Amino acid sequence: MNMHVVRKGDPHIDAQGWLTSATQLPSPNFEARPGDAVPTLIVVHNISLPPDDFTTNSIADFFLNKLDHDAHPYFDHLRGMRVSAHFVIRRDGAIEQFVSCDERAWHAGVSSFCGRERCNDFSIGIELEGSDRMPFEDAQYDALVALVRIVVKRYPIDALAGHSDIAPGRKTDPGPHFDWPRLRHDSALPPSFFPFQSNI
Ligand SMILES: [Zn+2]
Repeated sequence: MNMHVVRKGDPHIDAQGWLTSATQLPSPNFEARPGDAVPTLIVVHNISLPPDDFTTNSIADFFLNKLDHDAHPYFDHLRGMRVSAHFVIRRDGAIEQFVSCDERAWHAGVSSFCGRERCNDFSIGIELEGSDRMPFEDAQYDALVALVRIVVKRYPIDALAGHSDIAPGRKTDPGPHFDWPRLRHDSALPPSFFPFQSNI
């Protein structure tokens, strides 16, 4: 039985795994989750393309395999890469969705969570438009908190981690400016959901 009553009109994840309030930009970069895998982990990332530039739509272009690789020198090494995340939260808090939460997006790469490899199999990836070098916006935390609460209602999530937590030495995002205690406080999730945060 579904214990969570969703009022008509409230943002929610629909029967196909799409957030009703998000801008839906379906990416071809996904596949079925293997076997009986269901999302139990949320992975928080940051991304900006080019780095530290928040004025472009290059993240969406990248996830949709439409990036103009000649438009910036940084884009050159992204040629041929096929990447996606379920969600991107823009600097103004707007949410874009690229892959259904029911499907396996390609955001974590080689990764391990509590000894379990291939985190893409059992996670939902949320990218904050940002970088390791500067703080995130209040609107992004508000959007992230709302999104996390919606996802937790719908799927058996029991943990949140940063990309750097599940791919240490290879990835640094969401970076030193990401405020885990704020997410913990505002989401009202228990500390057990934050296994990599010892002080919250
Ligand atoms: Zn990442």
